[in-house]
Amino acid sequence: MATKKTTPPDTVSKIKALRKQEISVEALTKGIFNNDKALLAKAITLLESTKAEHYEKANAVIEECLSVPNNSIRLGITGVPGVGKSSFIETLGTTLTSMGKKVAVLAVDPTSSLSKGSILGDKTRMQTLSKDPNAFIRPSPSGNSLGGVAQKTRESIMLCEAAGYDVILVETVGVGQSEIAVHSMVDFFLLLKLSGAGDELQGIKRGIMEMADAIAINKADGTNLERAKLAETEFSRALHLYPPKKNGWVPKVVRCSATENTGIREIWEMVEDFVAQNKENGHFEKNRKTQNKNWFLQTVDEHLKQFFHQKESFKKEQAKMLSAIEKNEISPFYAAKLLLDKITKKL
Ligand code: GDP
Repeated sequence: MATKKTTPPDTVSKIKALRKQEISVEALTKGIFNNDKALLAKAITLLESTKAEHYEKANAVIEECLSVPNNSIRLGITGVPGVGKSSFIETLGTTLTSMGKKVAVLAVDPTSSLSKGSILGDKTRMQTLSKDPNAFIRPSPSGNSLGGVAQKTRESIMLCEAAGYDVILVETVGVGQSEIAVHSMVDFFLLLKLSGAGDELQGIKRGIMEMADAIAINKADGTNLERAKLAETEFSRALHLYPPKKNGWVPKVVRCSATENTGIREIWEMVEDFVAQNKENGHFEKNRKTQNKNWFLQTVDEHLKQFFHQKESFKKEQAKMLSAIEKNEISPFYAAKLLLDKITKKL
């Protein structure tokens, strides 16, 4: 059996050396096209930087990258902490690289900016995959808002695709709004679940079930196998209650074991079937275009907000209005209208 190559130490030292170095847009772009992982990582770091000149440079690189045609599949993976996301990605990722595919793992983890430590997309969680020369793993960007974090991940997808990654796995924690953000940037959305003691459907957010293209009951192994089968039946029944998807896809419920590597290859085959079906009926392209338009609109919203919130005059007026609301002198809605009227007149 061929031994797996580890990340060469020279790549690690190269990443360290590049950290502070100024690199031209051309050098970054060329590096990405040649799948130089250190330069890809550097471009993503610039993208995530709060310095305007870094972000400008990263954007220039993205513009260059857009011209590269890609045939990628973007797969979103969600599930509560402990469900087995990193184990699943490790097993699926290595299965894919052994099939000759190049795999990038990105993450959207809004909790990381609060806890100052990312719990997703962490290399220490995916020991084998992180050493795989055909895999690239990047932890979640940090940021003040989910919108900001998600935007950076979206842009990173483009860079990874330009670097020739065939499969982009985007991981998110199954808490809060981050699933919606990830759903809006992937082709296929997979929800990982655990089987419980008959309480499968409790505590599951309706919206998440509705977004899922498939639900995989993980840890379907050992003494848990029978319960996993029950959960499979229960979820399948529940999914039937939802209206059919516009693209004609009927969401599936499957079982897998990330640690025993069962059901994983079948999940990938299902994703490929989905992609083939959606390419055939035109929904694949349509969905990506809709997502692009939504990304644009959301980014404009985000920038508009930033634009106003950074203005001193806005901050002052806002403080005045808050104080008036505190004293019950004005309704919150009228205060908002007055504030915006005042500020936009000054523009
Ligand atoms: P994450 O927090 O969702 O990323 O979950 P992890 O991948 O870190 O897994 C949490 C725990 O569940 C770890 O102890 C894993 O070894 C274990 N685990 C993950 N997948 C499986 C599985 O398929 N079967 C079993 N029995 N344990 C699993």
